[in-house]
Amino acid sequence: MLELGVWSFFMLEPCPIWFGGQWHQVNAATSPVHNPSTGDVIAEAPMCGPKEVDAAVQAAAAAFPAWWETPPTERARVLFRFKTLLEENFEDIVRCNTREHGKTLVESRGDVRRGIEMVEFACGIPSLLMGESIENLARGIDCDTIRQPLGVCAGITPFNFPAMVPLWMYPVALACGNTFVLKPSEKVPLTAIKIAKLLDQAGLPKGVLNLVHGGRECVDALLTHPKVKAISFVGSTPVAKYIFETGTRHGKRVQSNGGAKNFVFLMSDADVENSVRGVIEGAYGCAGERCMAASTAVVIGDAAKKVLPPLIEAARAIKVGPTDREPQPNMGPLITRQHRDRVAQLIETGAKEGAKVAADGRGVKVDGAPNGFFLGATVLDEVQAGMTVAKEEIFGPVLNVMRFDDLDSAIEAANRSPYGNGASIFTRSGKAAREFKHRIRCGMVGINIGVPASMAWFPFNGWNESFFGDLHMQGKEGVQFFTQQKVTTTRWFSFGEGDIWHRETKS
Ligand code: NAD
Repeated sequence: MLELGVWSFFMLEPCPIWFGGQWHQVNAATSPVHNPSTGDVIAEAPMCGPKEVDAAVQAAAAAFPAWWETPPTERARVLFRFKTLLEENFEDIVRCNTREHGKTLVESRGDVRRGIEMVEFACGIPSLLMGESIENLARGIDCDTIRQPLGVCAGITPFNFPAMVPLWMYPVALACGNTFVLKPSEKVPLTAIKIAKLLDQAGLPKGVLNLVHGGRECVDALLTHPKVKAISFVGSTPVAKYIFETGTRHGKRVQSNGGAKNFVFLMSDADVENSVRGVIEGAYGCAGERCMAASTAVVIGDAAKKVLPPLIEAARAIKVGPTDREPQPNMGPLITRQHRDRVAQLIETGAKEGAKVAADGRGVKVDGAPNGFFLGATVLDEVQAGMTVAKEEIFGPVLNVMRFDDLDSAIEAANRSPYGNGASIFTRSGKAAREFKHRIRCGMVGINIGVPASMAWFPFNGWNESFFGDLHMQGKEGVQFFTQQKVTTTRWFSFGEGDIWHRETKS
């Protein structure tokens, strides 16, 4: 037993921090990184504090002037090389992602692919940075705008998309001429390290991207550091609010994405097969650990009779298992044992408060992985708005079903949610879809799409308690967030007879 302990200690993956172009091992308290399929500890993330954060921020500040002076075309070339390296190392990143997060290989491929799309978007930076200009706005006066970087920016990311979410932030920030300090989730630091090493290999100058690990102390050091100009955050709503309030109080620009509770409306005219597939993928993809998860099926009128039986059957048929080996299951484990137990407890609370457990994932048996953090697909039917499961973000493989007589009352109920990430409708009626799109109060709408997460070229557009700030990540808003505009008003005087222009035009 002792031998196994010593052996597994030596098998731990290194978890260094990166600043000034050097990788450093930190001597600090650590937080365990698990393989959720087996429950094994695979790395120990150091809990950095103000000292390590200051070193990373100072390195970023020192690298800023030269990186800003680097033409956007050259900055883009580094990103093009980065994109090539991401493609060449795609499967390696995917496996690392699955090992520390637990999502299936197919889901990890989606995670990495969405991240690469952000790099592709950022490669277009010379066009994205273009300003506006007009001549003769007043007599002899021309005006133009240019966009300039902010300086040192920082990113703090959640556990659920180890590849994609950090890539929502730093490719655009760097393309705009900023330098960056990333703090990935302490639960999944390894994918972020692997990807940062590729950017190093792509020729990024020292100190332009830096990486630290940790929890609240590390985050607070970033939020209050005088040299950090902007903060991008993605995580749960209480922390998102805290980040926004603290960051702005310290004079920083902040974009802060929070949690969510998303609705999928099923109309009685919806195509049954496609809508069941949409809800199943939306609710149980990544084991429900997605801010765009289809966490509530809103079943309207007769749809209950048509859609619910095949939906419940499909949920019961989902195969749960370890994702770090073949054959791949349909759904992997949750991130930690504590989180799995919390979700199981919420199912219990839902049942006690009157929801009907139509598919029960508790007590799921998984062969060959007795210590993994598994929970089967669960359906809670007849959920009412006041229940705990209707109010709290569950962030697990649990689908709530709420029943309504008509579209009107369903939209009104959904609009009472404090969140505002996504909502979808499955219908054959253009009128119902248009009404839904117009009236639903959230920032990303799907029509016959289970998970309407916007892609790199459009803003990731949370509303209400799902977002705090003014400018979202992704798309042109991302470029606006990472730059400040300068307006120049120009007038040139005539210098009289000796002036070259005069001589040339007179001759
Ligand atoms: P989390 O809020 O627990 O952690 C997110 C980050 O904040 C981590 O880096 C963590 O170290 C740090 N952190 C945690 N507690 C903190 C505190 N008290 N003070 C300062 N920093 C703190 O979130 P999570 O569990 O890693 O991720 C899941 C959450 O993220 C869900 O709520 C999900 O909806 C949300 N999420 C939102 C989006 C979006 O775009 N809206 C995308 C992905 C995930």
